[in-house]
Amino acid sequence: MSEWEQLLTVAMEPVHYLVNPQKRIFWVYLLSSGLIALALVVARREDITQFISKALSPKVWFHPSSRIDFYWFFFNHMLRVLLVVPVLGGGLTLAISINRVLYRWFGAGDFWQLPELSVSIVFTLVLFLAEDFSRFFIHFLYHKVPFLWRFHAIHHSATILTPMTLYRIHWLEMIINSVRSLLVIGFVSAMFIYCFDNGVHPVTVFGAIITSFLFNMAGSNLRHSNVWLGFGRLECWIVSPAQHQIHHSVAREHVDKNFGATLAVWDRLFGSLVLSRDTQVKAYGLAGKSVEQRFLSQQLGL
Ligand SMILES: [Zn+2]
Ligand SMILES: [Zn+2]
Repeated sequence: MSEWEQLLTVAMEPVHYLVNPQKRIFWVYLLSSGLIALALVVARREDITQFISKALSPKVWFHPSSRIDFYWFFFNHMLRVLLVVPVLGGGLTLAISINRVLYRWFGAGDFWQLPELSVSIVFTLVLFLAEDFSRFFIHFLYHKVPFLWRFHAIHHSATILTPMTLYRIHWLEMIINSVRSLLVIGFVSAMFIYCFDNGVHPVTVFGAIITSFLFNMAGSNLRHSNVWLGFGRLECWIVSPAQHQIHHSVAREHVDKNFGATLAVWDRLFGSLVLSRDTQVKAYGLAGKSVEQRFLSQQLGL
């Protein structure tokens, strides 16, 4: 395959996100979010036709803000595949290197041998907790460190939320997130490989880690949408789509609230939790700042 053909193949890959269970916009997750939204419309006795025409409206999908989502999605994909992944490598490579160091410093591990399924369940839970806390904490830093905020502000400059807004992140944020994920997967896997005389695998459903699968099936795509879905009292434990919409709100009282990805406990610990029943969101974007929706002018942050 020539270099141009390879480049074209990589450029076409974003379409495969729709059929990849490891991606948020996998068609099954989009469908489940759509069905949850429809169920809400019926339960609230709203007009179904109006809801569908609004959700599919070109005014939403071709809005200047939504177009920027697609540019960042495509740009970051190319950068990740062509540069970030080849340079960083995978979590497993890092895990094996850490494991070698542990072996050299502390001698043979393999302290326990337990049923494979038990180890997989504990590994999946520990990985989930480590991933979720590290996501929360880095998100907290994106907001609190001015140098990082100018790049994270790209995500918050969206004035229309669609499932594609998830991918509207500056390339520097994409690189930091990739390093974070690599370190977490590498360290957690290494500890398990070292301590257990077992093969270490997460519990998966259709190739996706079960915790991500459940999170995505529970309407994760509604976080970046206009559909207001709160989880009631459960919001003290799990972040609802409405809580993430609050995170995107322009209202002053919503600034620096609800940093959590899946668990709301971290926000409770850091005093940044806002429940959806106590408030409402009027508009999305940057508080007190209107931003020109131009991809090139966002390259050095906002
Ligand atoms: Zn944020
Ligand atoms: Zn968001």
